[in-house]
Amino acid sequence: MGLKAIPAGDGVYSFVNENVSPHTRHYELTIKLTPEQEKSLAADPHEDIYSINFFHPEQVLSYFCDKCNEAIQGNPGMQAYIRLRRDLKRQVADILCKCKKCDNTFYMGLAENPAQIPAELIVIDETGDYKKPTPESIEERLKQAEDRAKDAFLDSDGINVCRRWAEKIGYKLDEERIKKLEPIQREAYLRNFEKNLPDLVEEIRKDSYAFMLGTSASDEECSMFEGTGLAEQVDKLLENLPHINLPEDKKLREKILKILFQYRKMYDTAITQTITEKAEMEKKFNDDIQSCQNVSRKTTQLISQYCEKAGIDKETLDKIADDSTIPFSLDEIEDF
Ligand SMILES: [Zn+2]
Repeated sequence: MGLKAIPAGDGVYSFVNENVSPHTRHYELTIKLTPEQEKSLAADPHEDIYSINFFHPEQVLSYFCDKCNEAIQGNPGMQAYIRLRRDLKRQVADILCKCKKCDNTFYMGLAENPAQIPAELIVIDETGDYKKPTPESIEERLKQAEDRAKDAFLDSDGINVCRRWAEKIGYKLDEERIKKLEPIQREAYLRNFEKNLPDLVEEIRKDSYAFMLGTSASDEECSMFEGTGLAEQVDKLLENLPHINLPEDKKLREKILKILFQYRKMYDTAITQTITEKAEMEKKFNDDIQSCQNVSRKTTQLISQYCEKAGIDKETLDKIADDSTIPFSLDEIEDF
């Protein structure tokens, strides 16, 4: 969402959102631009706030806070977050403008080239290029990754950030702790899986009419019919079943067994069907071969009768027999 500039004179512009209906959130920031920012704004056909790139909170003269529901004079607070992107050439900071009265984030923007952002406004710089990491910030981030692993989420981005930060300041990361993240995450995932097992089993039972194999044209393999979500649920069950603690509930255990049988039945049915189809096809092919053989045999008889009647000698007969290949095209038909 862009905010369009309305000049108020003397390098001051109000940035507001256009086409506002009574239901859309109202944005308004009045900013005193630097001469460079004014130039970039003039060069932008949309006169959008993004064209001025980063602005310091001290440049903001007033703003509208949608939580206080009023225009507030003076500078807001600001927080910048720089994420570690795969494309390291293009760094972008998320800019949050915060109301000084109620701390509400009343505006979120982007700033390219985070080098312009004063370090004290940067809350997190995952790149470590604009705010120097510290052993504490690295440890904190690692702790965050551990907490997330306990919530069954593997924070590989977080680990990358820790590695990058550690490298920046020559800090030795505890690799043992990092190695443990995956097993911790896996454990948490399996415990979650156990907790949700009754629901999963019920969902599979509800969709069990769709236990059938489908072969799509692009896929030569026999695989479960997709479309009801059953295939995905069953895969999940089969994949995790060998690794979990089984439920206490006897009924649930039996329901799982029934699902396994249904799953196998699906393949067994396919085997029977395929064997029948194979036999039918074999019969069809054999019939074809036999009918061709019949015609060939009859023609052989006809040829010998013909040769006898036409008085063709053995030598000529053999020669014509050798030459009687079927031409591919008109050009290959030779003169007799
Ligand atoms: Zn406010």
